[in-house]
Formats: sequence, C-alpha cells, structure tokens
Amino acid sequence: MSTQNNKLNIKTAKDIQDASLIIDADVVVIGSGAGGAINAYELAKQGKKVVVLEAGPYVPSSEFKEMMAVAMGSLYQDEGGQSNTHGDVTVLQGACVGGSTVVNAALCFRTPDYFLNLWKAEHGLVNLTPELMSGYFDKVEKNLSIEPNAKHETSIGANLILNGLNKLAIEPGVAKRNIRDCAMSGFCFSGCKTDRKQSMLVTYLPWACNHGAEIYADTRVIRINTANGQASGVQAEVVDPKTKVVKAQVTVNAPIVVLAAGPIQSPIILQKSGIANSSGQVGKNFACHPSLSVTAMFDKEVNDFHGATHSLYVDTHTLPEEGGYILLNAVQEPVEASFQAEPGTGKNYVAYMEKYRNSIRLITLVHDENVGEVRFKDGVKEILYEVDDHDFEAMKAGLKFNARILFASGASFLYLPTSDRTVINSVDEIDSVIDQLKNEPARYRYTSFHPQGTCRMGADPANSVVNPYGESHDVKKLYISDASLLPTSIGYNPSETVYALSSYIADEIIKANFS
Ligand SMILES: Cc1cc2nc3c(=O)[nH]c(=O)nc-3n(C[C@H](O)[C@H](O)[C@H](O)COP(=O)(O)OP(=O)(O)OC[C@H]3O[C@@H](n4cnc5c(N)ncnc54)[C@H](O)[C@@H]3O)c2cc1C
Repeated sequence: MSTQNNKLNIKTAKDIQDASLIIDADVVVIGSGAGGAINAYELAKQGKKVVVLEAGPYVPSSEFKEMMAVAMGSLYQDEGGQSNTHGDVTVLQGACVGGSTVVNAALCFRTPDYFLNLWKAEHGLVNLTPELMSGYFDKVEKNLSIEPNAKHETSIGANLILNGLNKLAIEPGVAKRNIRDCAMSGFCFSGCKTDRKQSMLVTYLPWACNHGAEIYADTRVIRINTANGQASGVQAEVVDPKTKVVKAQVTVNAPIVVLAAGPIQSPIILQKSGIANSSGQVGKNFACHPSLSVTAMFDKEVNDFHGATHSLYVDTHTLPEEGGYILLNAVQEPVEASFQAEPGTGKNYVAYMEKYRNSIRLITLVHDENVGEVRFKDGVKEILYEVDDHDFEAMKAGLKFNARILFASGASFLYLPTSDRTVINSVDEIDSVIDQLKNEPARYRYTSFHPQGTCRMGADPANSVVNPYGESHDVKKLYISDASLLPTSIGYNPSETVYALSSYIADEIIKANFS
C-alpha cells in the first residue's frame, strides 16, 4: 500500500476555538497507536464515520529531532519519565499521533504458537488458532512492509556480535522490521524523520483519513459513557500541549467505542468511568518485559550508532521453559549510554563517556510473570510492579549468556547496569559476579518498552475483561484493542501481535455490527 498522497485529517488544540464541542460518529477510537490506528482504518473503510481522539500532540515527521533527550519531551508519555512506584523500572510509551509505533524500534515477531496454544488452554481463546492468526500476520506484514533486514543494514556492533555468536556456535536471528529501505540513521527512538519506518503516523492513520476518519490530537479521553449497558460515546478534554490548560470539553456520541489507549491508560479510563470491571481484573496482570543492557567496552573505536537499531536477536532461551529471556542487539545513542554503565559523576564517569565510541550493548529482556497492577488512586496513576524473584533468575541467566557473547565478540570488559559500579573483566569472572546479584529494587536500571496485560482477554467473564472477540464482557459495543489485551506476557517484542490482534478485532466489530 502506498503512502503517497495520503494526508491526515487532523485537528489540534490550536484549531479548537469553542469551549465545548459535540461530535456525532459511528465509531469513536480512543488512542491512535498500534491498536487504535488499525481499527480506525478498517472501520472507516466500511464507510463509517470514525473519530479518533489522541491525548498526545501531532508532531509531523519533518519536526522530529534526531536526539532522544528532545524526543522524550515531545513524543513520550510523561516526557519519558513514566515508571513503577519504586522508580526502578522506566516504562516507556509513545504519546503522540501514532502512539508508541512512532518511537519504537520496529522489530517485529509473529506471536509464537506456544502462546496462542497457552491462551487457548488457559484463557479459552479457542478462536485465536495459529491458522487464523497467520492470515492476520500475513496481512499486517504486507501492509507495514515487515521484512528481514537487508545485510547492509546490520550495524557495526551487531557485526561484532555476529562474530561472537559464530565463535560460540549460537544461532543468530535476523531482525524483521516494519521499515522500508532503512536510512540507517539509528534514530528510531526519536521518530523516523525520513518516514521509512512504517509507523501508524505514515500508514494506517493517513489511510483511515483517506476514508473520511477525523483525528483530534491534544484530546484526552476522561471517561466512557454508557446507556442501557451499552457504550454510547466518550467525554474528553482538549489540552493545550504547552500550557497544559484545558481548552475545551468534548463529547463524542457514538454507538461503538474502541478503547486503544495502551496498557497503562486503557485500564485507568475504565477505572475512572467505573465500568467493565465485574471481574475485578481491570488494571491487574500487568507485565512489561523488563530489560537490562550490558555495555561492552572495546580497545578500539566501534562507533555503533549507525545502521538498524536492532539487527539481530538470539531466541534460543526465550520460551518460559527454556529460560525466559531473549537477547537483542541495539545501537546505543549517547543519552542511553550515559545512564547504562559507569554510575555517578567525576573522573570515572567522564573517562567512560570519553570512550563512548568504543562501546556496544546487548539487551537481555525477560518474559515476566503478570504480577503488576495499574491503578488510579487519589487522582494519581500508579504502576505497582516489582521484578519477581523467578524473573530475576531468568534475567541473571540472560545476563550470563549475554556476557559470554560479548567477550566472544572481542570486548575487553563489561559494565552491568547497576547503581553501584559492577564490572566484569574476563569470561572467568562472569558467573561469580552475576551470581552475587540479588533481586534488590532500585539497584538496577531496568527499562520496559513493552507494557502488556491489564485488560486481559478470555472466555470466562469472572477472570477476564474482554471476551475472545475484544468486546467487554460487561458493556456491549465497548471494544478494547491494544497491548492491554494480552493474557500473558509473550517474551517477544509485541507490536506485531498488537497489529494482528487489532486487525482481527476490527473484523469482529464489522461482523457483529455492520454486516
Ligand atoms: C521506545 C519504544 C521502543 C519499542 N520498540 C519496539 C520494537 O522494536 N518492537 C516491538 O514489537 N515493540 C516495540 N515497542 C512496543 C510497541 O510499540 C507497543 O507494544 C505497541 O505500540 C502498543 O500498541 P498500543 O496500541 O497498545 O499502544 P500505543 O501504540 O502506545 O498507543 C496508545 C495511544 O493512546 C494514547 N492515549 C493514552 N491515553 C489516552 C487518553 N486518555 N485519551 C486519548 N488517547 C490516549 C497515547 O498517547 C498513545 O498515542 C516499543 C515501544 C517503545 C516505547
């Protein structure tokens, strides 16, 4: 599908002059990320009037700054500062037109059959068979140009890691990404200025607008309205992105509501609305794939900041029974490097940053238990989450594996991402250094790129929020279509799962309402 001549039909706070706005639509979609954009397009294509409300700003690609520190302020939830209540896990999410797909690294995996089978056995999702899902994976892979990286896109650091994997006879996985002809700038996390990343901003949202959908940016949904047990629309407010002052109240009257605000905001909107929670599961079962990067220092300059953000992965231990961790290479820009390794300030820190060009990193990301909870308490968003002891052991196993690969790749020494200084000087030290690590909150610099769960899908209304077709068990015509649906953590980067599930749910909405 071409992105040529596609335009967004978008209003921002600047365009809104009235203090109150009432809009009638066939469908209102909350959030314009992976789940929201796909539903907006598929439903608008049916000739229905679709209105998309997005809390974040509209930032055209031409205005992206190729600096993560700046992008955090304009494209990320809470300016990149969203974290669990302990403050030891940063939970990154995009908050802009296009959602997290604008800032993500575009690495794509099909949902492993393992999880589809598990969800069938334990959550009654008999409909999501590998056969059915493969049709949806094919569809989104075609629409979003999800292809294996070309050889020339492999970053310099990834090539070093590839040498290490070959030496250790470990099978590397070649990344598949929703990127066309990568510009190899290494700035995925700051938004793709060249529009080669096939995010929702340059694909499904313009396609939806071509079918008449309207998007309101800077427009935060505060509650979902219901009448007679059915969704009837939403209340929202237009917020000036600079002053944070509420500029207008918006009511959208629509008989179908698609909630796709992501796994932190979707449960909060339901909690604020006081609906869809007869199971008590709204906000529960939160997982987030905590990750830690090991930084490897080389004796020479590597300059690992050009090329695909992710070039390769190792998934030999990713399924829970095999260990529960995946390794991903990632180019490392200075802002990330600055807080990953040498802690504190002073001479050691300056010496480390002076050698930033000599560093590469390898990420360990774990398949975590769904132990967290998102709640709205006393007017405050809370993410209650601690890395579980069992998950911490998976992380340690992953870090050891990771460390061996980095030494085989030619690293002279490694930094672990701890708040005190932890260095591994040789292969012989790997086990002793990592074995002494304890599961202590706030000692590690965890980053989560993949919040999930919180409105899980399932056949049993007593322990799930939506049914196997994405509709709330309690409120008819209220559909949820985002990463909050996942019944369990999947251990693999989840965007393709969200794309495929959202395409499926859009079809179910059409079947149930428009045919
Ligand atoms: C930095 C980063 C890197 C990542 N890299 C990868 C990767 O390489 N591969 C991969 O598979 N996954 C990656 N992900 C994760 C992936 O992008 C997400 O899993 C996916 O986008 C989730 O889709 P979603 O629809 O649930 O939410 P999102 O795409 O986050 O969209 C939710 C949208 O809802 C909006 N919203 C929130 N509250 C409201 C409200 N009250 N009213 C209106 N709108 C609201 C938000 O502003 C946001 O735009 C990454 C994520 C990040 C942040």
